[in-house]
Amino acid sequence: MFRRHPKLQIKTDEQIHLMRAAGLVVADALQAVSQAVAPGVTGKQLDAIAEEVIRSAGAVPSFLGYHGFPASICVSVDNAIVHGIPNNTALHEGAIVSIDCGAILEGWHGDAAVTVGVGQIGAGAAALSDITRSSLWHGLAHARPGGRLSDIGAGVERTIRGAAHDYGIVRNYVGHGIGDEMHMPPDVPNVGPAGRGPHLVPGMVLAVEPMITLGAADNVTLEDDWTVVTMDGSLAAHWEHTVAVTATGPWVLTAHDGGRAELDALGVQISALAG
Ligand code: MG
Ligand code: MG
Repeated sequence: MFRRHPKLQIKTDEQIHLMRAAGLVVADALQAVSQAVAPGVTGKQLDAIAEEVIRSAGAVPSFLGYHGFPASICVSVDNAIVHGIPNNTALHEGAIVSIDCGAILEGWHGDAAVTVGVGQIGAGAAALSDITRSSLWHGLAHARPGGRLSDIGAGVERTIRGAAHDYGIVRNYVGHGIGDEMHMPPDVPNVGPAGRGPHLVPGMVLAVEPMITLGAADNVTLEDDWTVVTMDGSLAAHWEHTVAVTATGPWVLTAHDGGRAELDALGVQISALAG
């Protein structure tokens, strides 16, 4: 039978440069928020920092008001996987906090997330965040022409399964296409197998975002209708970047260096568009 893939938005080089500008706003906001994370700081204070960076760049926070979300960033602490609402609770020493941020500049979106330790964190929490970040880069390395969409998730999954610890990979939340809307086709799962789905072609832009748990990946949404937490209470980490597939390789639009350092380390050449 015929099975059509949803129509995917293909960007011109000029549009990718506009998305790069949006991506850098997100990178700046996440850098400022990450530097502010410390014991005693609240999610609302981090939210204010992000909104200030975004607005002073002439951009708009894409999360604010998105399906009624009340803030410019998601702040997901410890067992919260994603979509935590910033509140007035002080972050505690030893916590891990995932910060997810999106911005719109001249109609184009950027979307990225980091996981940050609060003060000194335990070895298990640090390893969880490190492997999640590493899996993201192994996924991003496949965002190049000649491959298929599921090569990205396969790269994520291979990294996680290669660890000594039996981590959980969240499956009911996934990455996504991104462009003049935040969430667009296609879905970008964090598992393989490789070689499936749409062919990757220049002009696709994708948000890749592994969500990894120290225990089981089963999760539930809290009564605030937003915060997604692990059912077993185990810690979760979330790292995300927006990446453009270009003729000459990946360009990680939400990384200050375009992804050059991390992709170099994986033997992947960054897009010539990055200059
Ligand atoms: Mg995000
Ligand atoms: Mg996203």
